[in-house]
Amino acid sequence: RVKERGRASFRFYQPQMNVDLLSRMKIDHAMRQALGRGDFRLHYQPQIDVHSGAVIGAEALLRWRDEELGEVSPGRFIPVAEESGFIVALGEWVLGEAVQQAAAWHRQGLGLVVSINVSALQFQQAHFVEQVAAVIGAAGLPPRSLELELTESILIQDADEALLRLNALAALGVRLAIDDFGTGYSSLGYLKRFPIEKLKIDRSFIQGLPGDESDAGIVHAIVNLARALHLTVIAEGVETEAQREFLVQAGCDEFQGFLFSPAVASTELEEVLCRVSMAPARERSELQLLR
Ligand code: C2E
Ligand code: MG
Ligand code: MG
Ligand code: MG
Repeated sequence: RVKERGRASFRFYQPQMNVDLLSRMKIDHAMRQALGRGDFRLHYQPQIDVHSGAVIGAEALLRWRDEELGEVSPGRFIPVAEESGFIVALGEWVLGEAVQQAAAWHRQGLGLVVSINVSALQFQQAHFVEQVAAVIGAAGLPPRSLELELTESILIQDADEALLRLNALAALGVRLAIDDFGTGYSSLGYLKRFPIEKLKIDRSFIQGLPGDESDAGIVHAIVNLARALHLTVIAEGVETEAQREFLVQAGCDEFQGFLFSPAVASTELEEVLCRVSMAPARERSELQLLR
């Protein structure tokens, strides 16, 4: 594109590129300080069982508010952290923090599975599996209460090495899910070989439901695939009642989305759960949808 437009346009865009590089460097620097200062927080987005309406899990999502930059979204800082390698340190913090929270909820008798997002670079660290084992061991967390969300890219980059690692993680007892399913290069063969238990249908396929025929077809196909392979399937980004109804009909097992709740602070999630468990059973699903 640059070539087509010639040198003049390249010069025109250069200042903008520098601004972007500068802001990425600024973000990277600020992130490193923020981690040291304890400025990162985790919020938790509930995952709901389609049939019982119960909250059965929560996805840990990073939140960061910088004094100068304001609230910075993960969509902005995660790519920067991935590019600079800082994601490894940040991911380690997320693992430790989420596992402690999961262990606290476990002690309170809340049967929640806490899921965390794992970046490719973090997954590829030589000691990743040992690290997971050590962290859950130290916290006294039953391994089945932790789920790792991996992207398809992790499975494709070095499939043999990934398979060894996934088998070791599965042997530990942690749950493995594929995040943003349908957006990567799917060699569907890996689903058969790898010890994956859950597919998370990417939000982009949920958005157009129930009207968009392509989205509807893709969702049906993913659910059927999951059925055939005995995998659990969860839809992310469920925002409307019509989408929820479609997903129930399609045979989806779980959903996550703003229809129920955005990611909230751990204490707020406890309040939601408390409200739900005190309500009469027949009112529960309604109450949950009302938040
Ligand atoms: P993700 O793992 O696919 O997480 C789901 C994202 O969708 C979250 O955005 C969540 O807030 C958003 N979401 C959930 N329900 C709805 C909905 O109904 N409507 C809409 N419009 N959005 C919804 P968030 O928190 O901004 O995170 C974006 C991405 O950043 C995540 O996508 C994940 O890839 C990454 N990320 C977040 N936290 C971490 C982390 O701790 N480690 C790593 N490696 N990546 C993270
Ligand atoms: Mg995720
Ligand atoms: Mg996702
Ligand atoms: Mg997504």
